[in-house]
Amino acid sequence: MDCLFCKIVNGEIPSSKVYEDDKIFAFKDINPQAPVHILIVPRRHIESADEITDENSGVIAAIFEKIPSIAKSAGLTEGYRIITNCGRHGCQSVKHLHFHLLGGAQLGERMA
Ligand code: AMP
Ligand code: ZN
Repeated sequence: MDCLFCKIVNGEIPSSKVYEDDKIFAFKDINPQAPVHILIVPRRHIESADEITDENSGVIAAIFEKIPSIAKSAGLTEGYRIITNCGRHGCQSVKHLHFHLLGGAQLGERMA
């Protein structure tokens, strides 16, 4: 499968890794939109939030269980925002489910 984030997870394409374990992989966004901008992805390919099922949702829990320590390691002591873009209207550009972890400065109040 020709998937950019599968290739990053597999090490075929280099990334600035922040965290990895057997289920999830986190790396710095190449085009940061905040002082801290980390992407957190399941190792296993899931296309988007719209493809989450009772069979694959364990990895979503794994991601959210790790977010506090990833945020702490990144120095996000004053809070952060987690975003996942889904589909065309959500402006999802990479079709491998990922959560944006944004922070390091006061973020805007508007989300859309
Ligand atoms: P989205 O628009 O929600 O699909 O987010 C995709 C994100 O992937 C964007 O924020 C891009 O800057 C980021 N991105 C694209 N290519 C790379 C890459 N090679 N390494 C790290 N981040 C990337
Ligand atoms: Zn993938």
